[in-house]
Amino acid sequence: TPRVLSGIQPSGGLTLGNYLGAIKRFVETQDAGSHQTLYCIVDLHAITVWQDPAQLTRNTRELAAGYIASGLDPAKSILFNQSQVPEHAQLAWIFNTVARMGWMGRMTQWKDKAGKNAEAASLGLFAYPALMAADMMIYHATHVPVGEDQKQHVELTRDIAAKFNHDYETEFFPLIEPVIEGAATRVMSLRDGSKKMSKSDPSDASRINMTDDADTISKKIRKARTDPEPLPETYEGLKDRPEARNLVNIYAALSEQTVQQVMSQHGGAGFGQFKPALADLAVDKLAPISSEMKRLMEDPAQIDAILRDGAARAREIAAPILAETYRIVGLVG
Ligand code: ATP
Ligand code: MG
Repeated sequence: TPRVLSGIQPSGGLTLGNYLGAIKRFVETQDAGSHQTLYCIVDLHAITVWQDPAQLTRNTRELAAGYIASGLDPAKSILFNQSQVPEHAQLAWIFNTVARMGWMGRMTQWKDKAGKNAEAASLGLFAYPALMAADMMIYHATHVPVGEDQKQHVELTRDIAAKFNHDYETEFFPLIEPVIEGAATRVMSLRDGSKKMSKSDPSDASRINMTDDADTISKKIRKARTDPEPLPETYEGLKDRPEARNLVNIYAALSEQTVQQVMSQHGGAGFGQFKPALADLAVDKLAPISSEMKRLMEDPAQIDAILRDGAARAREIAAPILAETYRIVGLVG
């Protein structure tokens, strides 16, 4: 059976962007049953930017709780944290020797996260896409559900796999496809329609956290930046209104409707009407997940046991693929 792999960084608390762009689709793929599904918590990626150790531990367990509370089932999917499957880092080293500096330098995530002072960024942040390529290739995954922001990294993974295959005259690594679909593959910040919603954004008001309570969710949506115009009758009418479009996209994704259906329902409404409707919908969808997360977080030992079990199962797939890679490269073992 073909394999799907994806992951999220424990670099903060889960956001609505992570839920709609990633987790919700992880669950759909798991439940479709057509693929073996592996979902990880990419802790080695998170530390490419400084993380407080105690907070990293908490975020890792909370992310695992978020996966399970959203419907990922450890009996159906392999759930684990990246650092516990050392083959990811081992294959990443090989890919560091295959990838070119110029390829990495062109990545928009590198440019965004390194900011103006690239000299002071970690070497790991620069090499991030090679580790991400290893995350997928160590399982020979062929499909990766990700948000729009990760498309470039998945394309780079194809380039790395293709160059490895070419340099070592093999067809060992598959060429992977990003799977980017749905109404909210790029949820934008509530404060700035040109920036994506991110768990590492310093402004808490910019995002909805999966653990926000009903009041906080309503308040953040009420305060979300918008323009004074009412909603138009068609989605095309939102072309130059990124903040309004973002709220419509979120509404569509949460209610599992098309954006056109949302427009025919709410076209003509002002934000004084639309925002409370969106807030109710968001609270409705997120409250059961956040209360289940809280319940799971009361037993961290159980979460750790689930992750340990997942790591052991993941290693059974990863170890022979790493061994074969080493053989192809000519490393004596
Ligand atoms: P960070 O700010 O630390 O990079 P993040 O919120 O961007 O955190 P990641 O761990 O980098 O989250 O990404 C995890 C998954 O969530 C990826 O598949 C990514 O494409 C998706 N994702 C992240 N932000 C959004 C968003 N705003 N809209 C849709 N998908 C998103
Ligand atoms: Mg990110």
